[in-house]
Amino acid sequence: MQAHILIVEDEPAIRDMIAYALRTQDYQPVCAQDAKEAHEAVANRIPDLILLDWMLPGVSGIDLVRRFRKEPNTRDVPIIMLTAKGEEADRIAGFEHGADDYVVKPFSARELLARIKAVLRRSRETEEDGSIEIGALRLDANQQKLLINKESVHLGPTEYRLLHFMMGHCNRVYSRNQLLDFVWGGSSEIEDRTVDVHIRRLRKVLEPFKLDGMIETVRGAGYRFSAVQSKS
Ligand code: CA
Repeated sequence: MQAHILIVEDEPAIRDMIAYALRTQDYQPVCAQDAKEAHEAVANRIPDLILLDWMLPGVSGIDLVRRFRKEPNTRDVPIIMLTAKGEEADRIAGFEHGADDYVVKPFSARELLARIKAVLRRSRETEEDGSIEIGALRLDANQQKLLINKESVHLGPTEYRLLHFMMGHCNRVYSRNQLLDFVWGGSSEIEDRTVDVHIRRLRKVLEPFKLDGMIETVRGAGYRFSAVQSKS
């Protein structure tokens, strides 16, 4: 099935370049030049993925990410941000508000297509019963079990829930507070530090397989499960 991809970008030259590149891969591009057109496009048809420019006239990219994440229709649609060079703070803010990935301008069509492919693949990783498989890791929802390279690995129930949440929201950064909300259900008696403890335990489980790097610490922001281990 052809993926429908919404491009939200105010610069016609970039928009056209992206649309052209998408068509060469049999994706169906839909173009919007601002937030208003983006909302109209989404109302017309929910896209499989959204490419979102950071610097838009009127409503900014970050506001738009926030809105898309709030609306039930677009809550789970993957978003790739198109950012200008060196806007590290913007990128962190983007992840915090629910973007899935970003590409830095100027980017090549090839680079963009590779990211799109990766993000679309990830969004299809969660199976109907809630099992998730990413790389060597498989979380079996039926047995509530972690398998690494098909080998069963012991995981405590909290670690299981934490890993399940993080694998299901791959490449997004979550703050300790957000993880407490989503994984622990926002109980106020639990301290932020609890998250660090369980993250450490998870890494210990992954360490013998050299996969502990998949759980990244994002300085000043929180934690992220990365489908591709960082090279640094
Ligand atoms: Ca722009």
